[in-house]
Amino acid sequence: MTYDRLVCANCAAPVSEGRCPVCRANRERLQQQESFLANLNPMALIALLAVLVAAVALLAHQTA
Ligand SMILES: [Zn+2]
Repeated sequence: MTYDRLVCANCAAPVSEGRCPVCRANRERLQQQESFLANLNPMALIALLAVLVAAVALLAHQTA
């Protein structure tokens, strides 16, 4: 999700240009979300991988 193409509801200019306070608030919020997701994703992937490995190990144990 990128905010580059978002148009402000208040001033009808691209949010990324930050022409009005609404633009700047939206831009800041979206940037925080993007950095949050960027930090979260590697950890979420590792957690998902751990769950998968555990599930496969459990399944192998049950069928053996
Ligand atoms: Zn605006």
